Amino acid sequence: MKALITGGAGFLGSHLTDALLGQGDEVYILDTISDLKVRHHLGNPQFHYIRDSIFNTEILEGLVLKCDLIYHLAAVVGVEHYVGDPYEVLNVNINGTQAILRLAFKYNKKVVFSSSSEVYGRNPKVPFGEDDERVLGSTRIDRWCYATSKAAAEHFCFAFHKMGLPVVILRYFNVYGSRLDRMDVGRVITIFIGQILRDEPLTVIGDGSQTRCFTYVDDAIRATVAAGLKEGAVGEVFNIGSEEETSIRELAELMIKISGAKSTIKYVSQESVYGLSYEDVPRRVPDVRRMHKVLGVKAETPLEVGLRKTIDWFRTGWYPPI
Ligand code: UDP
Repeated sequence: MKALITGGAGFLGSHLTDALLGQGDEVYILDTISDLKVRHHLGNPQFHYIRDSIFNTEILEGLVLKCDLIYHLAAVVGVEHYVGDPYEVLNVNINGTQAILRLAFKYNKKVVFSSSSEVYGRNPKVPFGEDDERVLGSTRIDRWCYATSKAAAEHFCFAFHKMGLPVVILRYFNVYGSRLDRMDVGRVITIFIGQILRDEPLTVIGDGSQTRCFTYVDDAIRATVAAGLKEGAVGEVFNIGSEEETSIRELAELMIKISGAKSTIKYVSQESVYGLSYEDVPRRVPDVRRMHKVLGVKAETPLEVGLRKTIDWFRTGWYPPI
């Protein structure tokens, strides 16, 4: 099979590339960022890296035509972008997704769209079932632009599905592992790893009682591969996540314990980190029954095991700043 992965040079995309090449597929990735995370595949005749934008219609059309299946992962993600550059978030995530869907529709190619657990917002009722309500804050709060962009893109997926396009939507829950963000930026785990490796205090925002279900990348990728292959997945939306609910305070304590760092915990206000255009999600827990039943995948990696692997990977220091 020939697969196109938009955003294939990013964190999830690079792991998906490993998995698809590993099962004998030919992989084309389209990405604007450097090849750092997929460099180990350069020279493999089954691997093609095209450094360009999903807004380059000519390039995109050629790739869509050539491939049998499209994993659309290209997006602007990360809280610092939601509050720092909401235009880019909205443009890439909504208009970029439309560009993919339009061409996929033209050539009738299946699309697996990577959405996010952010779409549920701060719905107090956990676990979140795929058909549950979304509870978001005001549009004055930039944080919600990401959830809104992914939800709008999901609506486009369903609209195209109604017209006959095979589409699968995946909502990822805090996926982590090697090649996540750069240390010190991006998501909480990479921020904490930077602090741990320097024995600095871990900056827990608020009182640390907010929870997440951190999902190890290998588990998320098994589900992603299955979503592209299972006929029963078409037209559906799936939570992709672990059920192990962990507070950010517990996460900080666990990371200090397993790394052996001399770090302590420092509680900081959310305003001091993200300014006034940020609101937190108090609890985020997936209902994963559909993932188990239709995709046949369970997130099996305990947080402690996944964190050990992730910290060890960042500790080796081969991952230079991009
Ligand atoms: N967080 C934290 N300290 C940090 C960065 C993040 O306590 O230095 C918290 C953040 O407020 C949120 C959680 O960690 O409650 C997860 O944040 P992240 O940005 O990784 O992803 P989110 O799940 O919020 O999209």
